[in-house]
Amino acid sequence: MVAWETVIGLEIHAQLATKSKIFSAASTTFGSEPNTQACAVDLGFPGVLPVLNAEAVNMAIKFGVAIDAEITPVSVFARKNYFYPDLPKGYQISQFELPIVGPGNLSISLEDGQSKIIGVTRAHLEEDAGKSLHEEFPDQTGIDLNRAGTPLLEIVSDPDMRSAKEAVAYARKIHALVQYLEICDGNMQEGSFRCDANVSVRPMGEKALGTRAEIKNINSFRFLERAINFEVERQIDLIEDGAKVVQETRLYDADKDETRSMRSKEEANDYRYFPDPDLLPVAVTDEDIKRIRAALPELPEQKRQRYIGDLGLSDYNAELLTTSRDVADYFEQALAKAPTLGALIANWILGDLTGALNKADLDIQASPITAVMLTELIERIADNTISGKIAKQVFEAMWQGEGSADAIIEAQGLKQITDSGAIESIIDEVIAANPDQVEQFRAGKEKVLGFFVGQIMKQSKGKANPGQVNQMLRDKLKSV
Ligand code: ADP
Ligand code: MG
Repeated sequence: MVAWETVIGLEIHAQLATKSKIFSAASTTFGSEPNTQACAVDLGFPGVLPVLNAEAVNMAIKFGVAIDAEITPVSVFARKNYFYPDLPKGYQISQFELPIVGPGNLSISLEDGQSKIIGVTRAHLEEDAGKSLHEEFPDQTGIDLNRAGTPLLEIVSDPDMRSAKEAVAYARKIHALVQYLEICDGNMQEGSFRCDANVSVRPMGEKALGTRAEIKNINSFRFLERAINFEVERQIDLIEDGAKVVQETRLYDADKDETRSMRSKEEANDYRYFPDPDLLPVAVTDEDIKRIRAALPELPEQKRQRYIGDLGLSDYNAELLTTSRDVADYFEQALAKAPTLGALIANWILGDLTGALNKADLDIQASPITAVMLTELIERIADNTISGKIAKQVFEAMWQGEGSADAIIEAQGLKQITDSGAIESIIDEVIAANPDQVEQFRAGKEKVLGFFVGQIMKQSKGKANPGQVNQMLRDKLKSV
């Protein structure tokens, strides 16, 4: 039995959130009537000239700076020649030898709490192609060129990932980063963020890379994990049966949960790359880089460090809170209202709130409980107005739209009983009603304490302060 090692490199296409296309003034808005947003440049009419969108360049630099990459001082656009009906020019304008973003790196967090650095080989600017529509017309293919010329940043990783889980962690990290940077909306259903996975296997300990297959058509993180796992099994089975993996492009079929051969892998020289004579080289100065660096927002990694260092959050919670910008923004809003309650707020967001959102299949932005509302609830726990247990009841009522925490506590009479006289009389009642258990306690059975606490909390409808109950109960039982 040979132990196999999985090797994965990802190519991610992030659609840049510019208003107009990378080489024309046509709009990039998603979902318009086919072919209403393709101008003469996007259609590749003779005699037209591309004009580079400066905003796309800024966005690419922003990404490069955020991953500590080298920004290429003079990068070059190249023509990648191939024929396809959704590519009327007969070539795609991309970057080849001199991409705008050179080597950089990104740290990912693994499930065991360790982190790992993944190399980013390069990131280059290119234009998207149009779309072929196969479903609408029987026996025909429709061509929609609205997407033609939409700016893409292709982010290519080193073959550094060793499992499907690592690949997903890396893809999620890039996904969060481009959203933090506001250079891509990250919408995977609409195709704004697409991953191709290059997968190979090799005997454990072997240095040389195995032959890889490239899997396309993956539009969710769940499918990314499944597609890689399927592909790894397929390759191992092939090799163990004495066959060879062929270098090819494969398609992931989510319905069947399998990958299928699409075409044999083309080599760079099949594309006859050459510098596009219609476009000047792109010069980026140190000043440009400085200006862009200075304008960067706080990045997930910095946020994570701040949450751990300043707020005392666990590595794990800090990671979860910063993975998505929306979650981090929600946390920040709550924190702004109650700066000393960070740890408690984190627990509520990652526990009850996330649970409720998942159950209702809602994004945090659509949460019926806003950050301010949740914080008001947490403040009532912190100031002992209600217990953590009652808070769950209030949370549920808030979720159902019954109002603010204070309003619900008031309306339902949920204020915690901290008056020791009131607690004492409940304790006395419960002790009087359960002489057998009192005997057991006297005989050394500490466990019955739990029984008493349960009875007292029940009697008080969950409102007695649990800390006080525990303390007073012990004293009482010892003196009975
Ligand atoms: P191509 O020119 O075919 O796109 P690249 O050399 O640019 O190939 O690599 C594309 C991606 O494939 C990169 O993310 C790289 O890390 C990854 N890759 C290359 N070789 C392998 C391999 N043997 N196994 C897994 N991933 C690989
Ligand atoms: Mg490539």
